[in-house]
Amino acid sequence: MTPLVGKVLWALGVVGWFIIRYPHDRRSRRTPRRTRRDRTRELILMVISADGLLLVPLIYVFSDLLRFADYPFHAWQAGLGGAIFGAALWLFHRTHKDLGRNWSVTLEVRERHTLVTGGVYSRVRHPMYSAFWLWALAQALLLPNWIAGPAGLVGFGTLFAFRVGREEQLMIETFGEDYRRYMARTSRIVPGIY
Ligand code: SAH
Repeated sequence: MTPLVGKVLWALGVVGWFIIRYPHDRRSRRTPRRTRRDRTRELILMVISADGLLLVPLIYVFSDLLRFADYPFHAWQAGLGGAIFGAALWLFHRTHKDLGRNWSVTLEVRERHTLVTGGVYSRVRHPMYSAFWLWALAQALLLPNWIAGPAGLVGFGTLFAFRVGREEQLMIETFGEDYRRYMARTSRIVPGIY
């Protein structure tokens, strides 16, 4: 089966993600913030994540540079990868709806920030990061290349590892016992597991 199918599904997923995010990005620029944490460190983490989820796959899709690391593509990869990217987009949409004006690209607290514990936030504390993990997993399946495929898992995995604990710390500083209680009854990214 031709890898083109996988590349097209990957590209559609990425475009879908930009379409979902665009209006929230615009609103977020207009929403006043109270605190911004570790700005430089967060920007570096975002560049690492974007390299893995966007830049390396784009190099793979539009050039021959990574051709040496190709492996044969299988139809099941397209089916499973496409379905997982679809699930990721649904979750992105839901998390943006539920977080509303509290959302930010980096670690920030808004003026009149509220703690969201409902909707897709009722069982996991970081469903948007769950969605990014699903995207990275879909990429690994859709791009039959040993570098471009896993690059998203490595890139986003780095951001996740260095951010999630500090984000929870910021939420504890902001919401105190309310967030601790919320932590006690939820998982981080996979309901009931982690
Ligand atoms: N980690 C969350 C949110 C990502 S957006 C997720 O994966 O779904 C990052 C911003 O969301 C952080 O700057 C923080 O201020 C805010 N945030 C994280 N959890 C929140 C919650 N439960 N309620 C309100 N804001 C939250």
